[in-house]
Amino acid sequence: MKNIRTRFAPSPTGFIHLGNIRSALYPWAFARHCQGKFILRIEDTDLERSSQEAVDVILQGLSWLGLDFDEGPFYQTQRMDRYKQIIEQMLTQGLAYYCYTTPQELEVMREAQQIAKQKPKYDGTWRPEQNKKLPDVPKDIKPVVRFKNPLSGLVTWQDAVKGEISISNEELDDFIIARADGMPTYNFCVVVDDIDMQITHVIRGDDHVNNTPRQINLLKALGKNDNEIPVYGHLPTVLNEDGEKMSKRNGAMHVMSYAQEGYLPQAILNYLARLGWSHGNDEIFSKEQFIEWFDLNHLGTSAAQFNGDKLKWLNAHYIKQSLNQELLNLSLPFFKACDYDLNLYSAETLGNIIALVKDRSSTLKELAQNASIFFIQPHLDGIKAELDNYTKDENVATAVQTLKIQLSNLSKNNWHAEHIAKIFKQILSEFGLKMPALAMPVRLLTVGSTHTPAIDKVLQILGKDTVIQRLNKI
Ligand code: GLU
Repeated sequence: MKNIRTRFAPSPTGFIHLGNIRSALYPWAFARHCQGKFILRIEDTDLERSSQEAVDVILQGLSWLGLDFDEGPFYQTQRMDRYKQIIEQMLTQGLAYYCYTTPQELEVMREAQQIAKQKPKYDGTWRPEQNKKLPDVPKDIKPVVRFKNPLSGLVTWQDAVKGEISISNEELDDFIIARADGMPTYNFCVVVDDIDMQITHVIRGDDHVNNTPRQINLLKALGKNDNEIPVYGHLPTVLNEDGEKMSKRNGAMHVMSYAQEGYLPQAILNYLARLGWSHGNDEIFSKEQFIEWFDLNHLGTSAAQFNGDKLKWLNAHYIKQSLNQELLNLSLPFFKACDYDLNLYSAETLGNIIALVKDRSSTLKELAQNASIFFIQPHLDGIKAELDNYTKDENVATAVQTLKIQLSNLSKNNWHAEHIAKIFKQILSEFGLKMPALAMPVRLLTVGSTHTPAIDKVLQILGKDTVIQRLNKI
């Protein structure tokens, strides 16, 4: 396929969450797959609810996740002249008309239709037709502009996700394209933009299905023939873990809080890619594979439910897979947040710390917490009772003392996990003990916790001086 152009068109009325990001990911992946263009358009015409902070989160989120765009960001508020020009043109060509029906009159109309069990819609009072006498134009009322929607026939499209959808024009009314204050409306701006930006595929949330027949009618009125109407694909809703529609109101975290919690962008992308699209049974795949495999034929048709545990599982996978030095760089802000003194260790040793704790960490935040044993001095008071439990056995107490002496005799040059492990082995056999009997009190004394990675490796990292000094506390 040639010249594919997709877009992500968020409204910056709230901080975007993972559900919104999925509506960016699929059009992005489709554009990349087809070597087309991905366009970012900020739909900020709702001046009261839009904010710069929300725009910033969109830009930061896309950049963090590597969802690069080829054109834009285009801001609708900067395109007002263009919209007004098209509205003027439509009025001149008789494709749109001024309507002086007041909101109060509309309300009365709606109530009457409800009583008559009819679908509420504008009754066309001001719609110009041949041989029709229009009411006198009232003074003091600023008119809205309405689109002359076809009165009959069907609007049909092949939705890339939902299959064929057909809506009768009788269901639709002449919707407003410019409000009384001259502001163009959402459905109108989307269509003008999709035309000007030559969008070939509109992939968006299925909360827009109802807008699509209106937008198609408008596209046609503006001269687009059937072949020029974009392909529409409406993605099913993303539900949160409680089964409600994912939204900020329902507690969805905004995309950058995942960065702050220590998620890796690869994990988020991989997770969202699978949330509504599949490639056989593949669960773990790279961004490159995703681009290669992505198509519109394998989009899920039912609502997808967010699963935080699965996201964590994927994040743990990507943490485990990352190079130590790379993870170290990513972890630095988290280490700093924990107030760790990074000068305690060389860059190489910091890399070794990462290697030791990464397997048990599902976020970078957890990784930093798991590294605490290398940065926080144990307090004897806090571990005394637990330590006594082990060392009340005199054999164990003597074994710990002997270990200390043997470790003191190990030269700094030989201060390596393998030599330390040898000494442990020797003492275990000498005292007839099993590993935990010796390792647990040593763990408590040296790092203040019994939950640590392999003790020989931990002691190597702590360094001889620290280990001997801490073992001396017994
Ligand atoms: N601005 C709309 C939204 O944030 C999307 C419009 C569209 O994709 O056509 O829901």
